[in-house]
Amino acid sequence: MRTALALAIALLAAIPAQAASQGASAMRYVMGTLWTVEAEGPGAEEAVEAAFAEIRRLDESLSTYKPQSELSRVNRDGGRDWVPVSDETRMLVTKALALARETDGAFDPTVGPLVELWGFKHQDYKVPEAAEIAAARARVGYHLVRVREKPAAVRFDKPGMALDLGATAKGYAVDRAIAGLKAAGLSAGRVDAGGNQGVFGPPGRVWRFGVKHPREEGEVVGTVAHTGGIATAGDAERGFWQGGVRFGHILDPRTGRPAGGMLSVTVVAPTAEEADALDTPLYVMGVRGGMAWLQGRPGVAALFVEAGDQPGTYRLTATPGWTWDPDGGRPTIRQ
Ligand code: AMP
Ligand code: MG
Repeated sequence: MRTALALAIALLAAIPAQAASQGASAMRYVMGTLWTVEAEGPGAEEAVEAAFAEIRRLDESLSTYKPQSELSRVNRDGGRDWVPVSDETRMLVTKALALARETDGAFDPTVGPLVELWGFKHQDYKVPEAAEIAAARARVGYHLVRVREKPAAVRFDKPGMALDLGATAKGYAVDRAIAGLKAAGLSAGRVDAGGNQGVFGPPGRVWRFGVKHPREEGEVVGTVAHTGGIATAGDAERGFWQGGVRFGHILDPRTGRPAGGMLSVTVVAPTAEEADALDTPLYVMGVRGGMAWLQGRPGVAALFVEAGDQPGTYRLTATPGWTWDPDGGRPTIRQ
């Protein structure tokens, strides 16, 4: 399975030999994607293990695949009654609902019924009938979720609804893992959840990321120099072809169909949580809507990749305020 859309490149060259000898790195499969955690400094090995423990803890409460997770319990019983959740889950649901309001529903954490209908949940893909889409859409709507603060609980206004935090949970988990590495006193670290990444390092360290071509394996469409969070949403991550059309896993909740037009959107933000949260609605909004929405959001940059007019070509659009340098003929964005 293809997972990482943005990959860190040319890192080793920047790591002094002694620091590298005190480093640790591990790859594991969690939350349906391949994670890499790497860190430099004394105690790196234990800190990397602790980071994975934290990521697994979040998977236990936020997974929609694990029947005993908090989110699965909400999805099972939330149409009938309040379902108690932890303060952390309440906070994540509240944030997701706020983003849904801010993006006018381009992002909607209640897309669960549509994710399932199109087969993206269990990879039993199909193009549904219009009537099936309409029936699933009737059970989608961020304004139909209620959150209680004390004691923390969530419920739905309609039965058959389902929360899906697949668009934001990985970014949050990346930041939690990064926070753990920093608290352990490590000098540099990188956490990558299938292209949703967070990095930190000593002052002066430049992290460079290649943005993968959404169609051509091994091709890079641009590079980013950044310390903080970076995430890519694309139809290459998960989806299927039918009749020469690509149906990707990012849905436009307003039509009930996969969002069309974009190949990928890469977002650079201070944190991985922000980058991961924003890549999905920007993908749904497309270049025009996304660029307009990003105005007045300093600190967040986006690189949109659309299909070009000729087969096999693509068009790049990036937010202003970032300098583009030629780098081997390819665009480079820098803060
Ligand atoms: P990401 O990988 O961050 O782009 O998140 C994609 C995942 O978010 C999908 O696999 C779905 O589980 C979920 N999702 C799809 N479309 C939306 C949407 N419009 N708003 C919120 N979540 C979505
Ligand atoms: Mg996302």
